[in-house]
Amino acid sequence: MFSCWLSRLCRGLSTPTGRVTHLIQGSLSRRLMLSSQRRIPELSSFVARTNTCGELRSSHLGQEVTLCGWIQYRRQNIFLVLRDFHGLVQVVIPQDESAASVKKILCEAPMESVVQVSGTVISRPPGQENPKMPTGEIEIKVKSAQLLNTCKKLPFEIKDFVKKTEALRLQYRYLDLRSFQMQYNLRLRSRMVMKMREYLCNLHGFVDIETPTLFKRTPGGAKEFVIPSREPGKFYCLPQSPQQFKQLLMVGGLDRYFQVARCYRDEGSRPDRQPEFTQIDIEMSFVDQIGIRSLIEGLLQYSWPSDKDPVVVPFPSMTFAEALASYGTDKPDTRFGMKIVDISDVFRNTKVGFLQDALSKPQGTVKAICISEGTKYLKRKDIESLRKLAADHFNQEVLPVFPKANRNWNSPVAKSIMEEQRSELIRLMEIQEDGVVLLTAGEHRKACSVLGKLRLECADLLEARGLVLRDPALFSFLWVVDFPLFLPKEENPGELESAHHPFTAPHPSDIHLLHTEPKQVRSQHYDLVLNGNEIGGGSIRIHDAELQRYILATLLKEDVKLLSHLLQALDFGAPPHGGIALGLDRLICLVTGAPSIRDVIAFPKSFRGHDLMSNAPDSLPPEELKPYHIQVSWPADSEAERAH
Ligand code: ASP
Repeated sequence: MFSCWLSRLCRGLSTPTGRVTHLIQGSLSRRLMLSSQRRIPELSSFVARTNTCGELRSSHLGQEVTLCGWIQYRRQNIFLVLRDFHGLVQVVIPQDESAASVKKILCEAPMESVVQVSGTVISRPPGQENPKMPTGEIEIKVKSAQLLNTCKKLPFEIKDFVKKTEALRLQYRYLDLRSFQMQYNLRLRSRMVMKMREYLCNLHGFVDIETPTLFKRTPGGAKEFVIPSREPGKFYCLPQSPQQFKQLLMVGGLDRYFQVARCYRDEGSRPDRQPEFTQIDIEMSFVDQIGIRSLIEGLLQYSWPSDKDPVVVPFPSMTFAEALASYGTDKPDTRFGMKIVDISDVFRNTKVGFLQDALSKPQGTVKAICISEGTKYLKRKDIESLRKLAADHFNQEVLPVFPKANRNWNSPVAKSIMEEQRSELIRLMEIQEDGVVLLTAGEHRKACSVLGKLRLECADLLEARGLVLRDPALFSFLWVVDFPLFLPKEENPGELESAHHPFTAPHPSDIHLLHTEPKQVRSQHYDLVLNGNEIGGGSIRIHDAELQRYILATLLKEDVKLLSHLLQALDFGAPPHGGIALGLDRLICLVTGAPSIRDVIAFPKSFRGHDLMSNAPDSLPPEELKPYHIQVSWPADSEAERAH
């Protein structure tokens, strides 16, 4: 009753905007705001049912209801369990002669057929209640039933506990979506996005604006998908993000923009990435880094699911340099310690050859991590696999040292470490009885990167042995700031590329270095990290056309003609502005604890970028390619394949 009254009241009221809210004073308006936030959705309006399967309780006893759902179980032709998105309910199949036709429908329909039943909510006989089922106190005494559609033999059972390969799940995604887990993930996603919209648009006056997906190439970023056009030799590109448009919206005076934006990156197969993905994309005029950070902290706090521990703000922050030095990565998982320590000074007078070697070089360092209780939980073969990983992936030698334990698993340095070095190591790294030290030497960034990787590997190993390092209920947010503006290009380290993107403004204190030592310039780029995953990134932008031109043309050696529209716009009174984008798929994946981002996307692509359900991408006959002036030149091996 209350919910009906409430929702009718709410329907008659438009939700106040942020500005109006500020203007309306008094407790009545506050109460109305609260009740509109708590509004209970009507799940059975406009459709052929009176209730959902999952909502029925003892309070509904005696009510005549009509339900629609899928047949989940049938027991001895007496009971049927009906399922919809909201839950399960038990239906009693009538046994008397007069209801023979109803019995026939309900007993003959294959599992997962979709039916409509009408009947009365009755209580289950004493002793037959099921406390594990939210509807376990009641059942439906059916009077009539209709088979809405029958279900053929399924490729897999819908039940969550039945294991199925991911390829099969993706091939029959529409069936996989019937599972409780997928329903939960997609509904939680929808609720969070709704709260984000509410926070941004209603509470803070953001404007939700759609930007084009048919666009042109943006220099200096990810690889883009190419779309042919009917003009010979002319192509669109799918945007890797709405970056240029959101900046242009600021030039256009929109002031606060937001979009649940689809982005496209043609980066080949990468684990847990998708060629198309979704960002909560945001841009604001007249804002600084602190402003953006506070906005995002408020956004996450507001949209966070109420069944999780509340988000605590402000989030801590760390400079890029500190993240690299202590965690060996720009996305540190701060839920556990095992930090990297620089132990170069301990080994200044070492006799150990490879340490001496490293320290004699200008950038040479010796670094280590300490695995507490390592000798207790790790085996010799674990240490060997960690060393192999360092050698194979980083070409780095890593040595185990057991400063306190009387062990020497393949540690040639152990004998050569002098007593005072040993005790200095114990003091510096606070090593306890069972601690194992993993030690490496070399250039700062490289030594940190390898230990950063090993730190995470060790955490996995220790957790596989039953130690809890990373509390699964903990959400540890962190801002990483003060990134370098440029990094050496991977394929050509003599050249520079943007660490974030070419529109990022330099740090005001480093601008003077742009012309002399661009590599030393820090940027106004910030990343948001959650439990060791980058879930967002953004920057304060360059709004000065001259500076933007200099960075693009002189430092990044990009073709400025491709961006002449943006450069021109900056010249027409572009306001100072900045923004950020949150990776929605990854965020929801972490919130739900799903094993992969594919589990929070309704129709994801496979690891190789294929839609296993529809078989996209697919070939087109030559005549359909003609209007685009395109001809496929088949690689030799696929030519042979086609001939078969
Ligand atoms: N467009 C950027 C990205 O996709 C985010 C930003 O700078 O706002 O990473």
